[in-house]
Amino acid sequence: MEGAIGIDIGGTNIKIGLVDKNRIVARRIIKNDPGEPPPQVLTRVAEIVKKLGQKYSVKTAGVGVAGLVEKGSGLVVFSPNLPLWVKIPVKETLARLTGLEVFCTNDANAVTLGEWLYGAARGYNDVLGLTLGTGVGSGLIINNQPVLGANGFAGELGHTVISFNGPDCPCGNSGCLERYIGAVAVVRRCRALLRAQARRATVASNQLSLFGTSGEGLSRMFELTGFNLNQITPEVISRAARMGDKLAQRVIKETAYFLAIGIINAVLLLTRKWLLLVAD
Ligand SMILES: [Zn+2]
Repeated sequence: MEGAIGIDIGGTNIKIGLVDKNRIVARRIIKNDPGEPPPQVLTRVAEIVKKLGQKYSVKTAGVGVAGLVEKGSGLVVFSPNLPLWVKIPVKETLARLTGLEVFCTNDANAVTLGEWLYGAARGYNDVLGLTLGTGVGSGLIINNQPVLGANGFAGELGHTVISFNGPDCPCGNSGCLERYIGAVAVVRRCRALLRAQARRATVASNQLSLFGTSGEGLSRMFELTGFNLNQITPEVISRAARMGDKLAQRVIKETAYFLAIGIINAVLLLTRKWLLLVAD
């Protein structure tokens, strides 16, 4: 049987899948430690690729990397969430280690291309694809053409600025959308709110003993993490929100609001329909 390999190199995990006619028939997920030298990571990936491809006649592999990937060469120039991945020849290295023909692009471009060709965006002429994870990526299809820009770096919606005096970003700018809706930023904002709530609860319980004042209830996230705020993850926030936890719901609402600012900026920049509405 003929198959192909898909590899997603993200800021936290690396996902590797064996694909047979648009269907994933086997998959592996390994951790990506941002402190591990990239050549070592690629050697680990190549070992898994070789094992996965054993029963199939695999000739090609497509790689998406969470970073800026040079068009054609597949060179990873820079990745805000993987600081060691600077000028790493991913395409060339994996081709050499696996013997496969390798294609490499930015992860959000790869997802958008996949959804446009085979998934949710099939049949649309213009598509904006967003990947929400450790970072925030985006890919663009306009007039049935993937838009990569002059060197392949186009479509970085996560690094458009939504607040001019916002937090610093590893990309060198500050106030980027990713600093508000990336998983790390969401968890950090949630922890700060929980710490503030714990402080208020302490003050309230002192007042209760002195004056009989009742305080607010503690978030369910304290109980879900055993009072260890290092255990807060987007999954914990989501679980607590579904349980009706007000603080978790607030974090999700805020995140959705910031995401909406990013999306509306993209819509205003790209959508011809909106311009037609104005003309009307
Ligand atoms: Zn940035």
